[in-house]
Amino acid sequence: MSEEHNYDLVVVGGGPAGSSAAFSAAKNGIKVALIEKENSIAETVRTSGVTWIESIKEFGIPENCYNPIKNFSFVSPNNEVTISDEVSTAAVLDVRKTYRWLADEAKKNGVDIFVKTNINEVIKNKDNDIVGVRGAGVNGKITFHSKVIIDATGFISTISKAMGFVTQWERFGAGAEYEAKVENSDPETWWLMVGQEYTPAGYAWIFPLGNNIVRIGVGVGKPESNVDPTQRLKEIVEKKLGPIKKLGKITPIEFHYGLIPNDGLSRKTVFNNLILVGDTAGQANPLVLEGIRYAIKFGRVAGEVAAKAIKNKKTDENALYPYEENWRNAIESKIKSAGKVQDRWIGLSDKEWDKELDIINELKTDEFLDFIKADFGLSNMVKLAMSHPKLAVRQLFNLVKGK
Ligand SMILES: Cc1cc2nc3c(=O)[nH]c(=O)nc-3n(C[C@H](O)[C@H](O)[C@H](O)COP(=O)(O)OP(=O)(O)OC[C@H]3O[C@@H](n4cnc5c(N)ncnc54)[C@H](O)[C@@H]3O)c2cc1C
Repeated sequence: MSEEHNYDLVVVGGGPAGSSAAFSAAKNGIKVALIEKENSIAETVRTSGVTWIESIKEFGIPENCYNPIKNFSFVSPNNEVTISDEVSTAAVLDVRKTYRWLADEAKKNGVDIFVKTNINEVIKNKDNDIVGVRGAGVNGKITFHSKVIIDATGFISTISKAMGFVTQWERFGAGAEYEAKVENSDPETWWLMVGQEYTPAGYAWIFPLGNNIVRIGVGVGKPESNVDPTQRLKEIVEKKLGPIKKLGKITPIEFHYGLIPNDGLSRKTVFNNLILVGDTAGQANPLVLEGIRYAIKFGRVAGEVAAKAIKNKKTDENALYPYEENWRNAIESKIKSAGKVQDRWIGLSDKEWDKELDIINELKTDEFLDFIKADFGLSNMVKLAMSHPKLAVRQLFNLVKGK
């Protein structure tokens, strides 16, 4: 059997970017389909789900979707620092609950959600512009005709690749993680663990979810290292390396694995009738490879811009450009600065990491938070680069500033 549908906007991918784009487009009065290949939204978790309370509040994510974090602990082979805040500024998301909430918000605003629908083909007009997508649905072949398509398929970027607009990401992070029940866990403290034994390029982590549930993971930068993160995760858990020892008995509940682009903001993200958003657009903070808040924020912008263009009956690249302009203005220079710090971090030896933690320890809590969030305001960076009492901190911020 084959099915045909007509929509104003088709969003492919039911992750945070796709659900958020569908939500804001429908809110702006157009007919929207959201398509997800898995059996349900967030069936497979591919993220460790850390984000920032400021963003959570901005998006209206309900309180029962996350565990707040106050203390940020770092460990290197021979050093350890903890930066504490009086209030919680970060959070570990219940990923399924949050992503399903985002999709429900879209549904409440009139979005039709198609799960178990794997899109594998694009439909083009005589000018070679995209005008629809096709794939395998619950009842067989399924076709969607649409004025605009949003590619929110994440790392894999199915639609943009099928159009020939992008090729596979060359630089990316690969991460493996257990969600596990443990004997002891401080629910307000996260751990980032650096140095060769944890991972040769990247970091390992313990992110608490409360109720003695934690996510323990390892991220490895590719192509810098050929270490398999799954294997390394098993090793560091078996060895009970560093703060993992404090967790006591570890009983894995679920295993997560995923890839995240780390090629900077290299992709063009608007074409005639097509927008790329979230991981498809490479929108991630390279310092800790977090992309959820950008996926939601710019997903919403993408939906709004698409709705406006559709209502104005002009959906070419120029009409969709305000989306690209919006996200570039918001994050491009910050991501570039963060990329410079990441380049420095990727090459650090164990000894250098021990010293880097001393530098991190010199930052005030708000300076540290701006730093790790890649929220580098120029005036803030100039201030730190010029007048911080410690030379090493001044040097770090001179690097960020680009001198
Ligand atoms: C190991 C790891 C840890 C991470 N930790 C964090 C973190 O702590 N904090 C943070 O902010 N970010 C983190 N990230 C990054 C974060 O997960 C991504 O930036 C975010 O998920 C991007 O959202 P998205 O909607 O663009 O893509 P995705 O979340 O990947 O969603 C894409 C969706 O599209 C669907 N899809 C794909 N192809 C098709 C198709 N052909 N047809 C239909 N549906 C399709 C997929 O099933 C999926 O549901 C991590 C990433 C990894 C790999």
